[in-house]
Amino acid sequence: MEVKLAECAGFCFGVKRAIDTVYEQLAKQAETGKQIYTYGPIVHNEEVVRELEQKGVQVIDGEAGLDVSAIDGKTQRTVIIRAHGVPRAVQEKMEQSGLECIDATCPFVKRIHRIVEKAGKDGYEVVIAGNPGHPEVEGIRGWCTGPVKVIETEEEAGNFTAENGEKVCLVSQTTFNYNKFQSIVEIFQKKGYNGNVVNTICNATEERQRAARDLAAEADVMIVIGGKNSSNSRKLYEICSGECAHTYFIQTLDDLHLELPKAVRLVGITAGASTPNNLIEEVQNYVRINF
Ligand code: SF4
Repeated sequence: MEVKLAECAGFCFGVKRAIDTVYEQLAKQAETGKQIYTYGPIVHNEEVVRELEQKGVQVIDGEAGLDVSAIDGKTQRTVIIRAHGVPRAVQEKMEQSGLECIDATCPFVKRIHRIVEKAGKDGYEVVIAGNPGHPEVEGIRGWCTGPVKVIETEEEAGNFTAENGEKVCLVSQTTFNYNKFQSIVEIFQKKGYNGNVVNTICNATEERQRAARDLAAEADVMIVIGGKNSSNSRKLYEICSGECAHTYFIQTLDDLHLELPKAVRLVGITAGASTPNNLIEEVQNYVRINF
């Protein structure tokens, strides 16, 4: 029986960069003595967050309405902004309250912040194709300098009317579905909104999804490793389930209760962008040794 890992799996560039930033700060901690926080979990993976907590890194609950009151007025503390980014007001509030603020927002997300900021100043209404409840979208919204709307479906695109006539700047959440984005672009073109369309979907997502689909199509059993709150991992699970009836979604090796019939020839493994390499290797080794 063969065990194969998808061509692209695990940490993407932005997540790796954010986690490396936390470890760099931990290394400096002996000199600075500063308490290190991350604004929200640095990555949607409980294992990684637990490991960092054991090293003394605390999580400020950025998820609950992006509330910064928990960190107001504290000094000698470093806060790291995770790859998803935060609204401008949140970042400014942290800086004003005397915290050392280290921005580990993924450069691809930061690019969207700059696009929407400029678009608002140039008189465009910004439309974000994405999930309105996702922190990345909350963050993007928070860098808009004019009217902004989030739409998630083609139906919402059909019902949309621009406040500023035809001046619309359309961007996407980095993990938005490419085909859906294209449909929204077409709907907007039919409406006569020929403004500014910027496809800001990140390649890392597409590459992972394509590699997962290809592997699931040939595998007898597929294992998707990812955090339960990780939307890109759930998406991988959906894609793999569509190709392979025996698809498992696990967070850690403990969740894996595999029963493999003798006829199984290929077990495929993939992992979301927030899954660390050691976890992937652990699952890979376990399947290789035990089956
Ligand atoms: Fe950055 Fe793309 Fe990773 Fe998001 S998925 S953190 S945009 S590299």
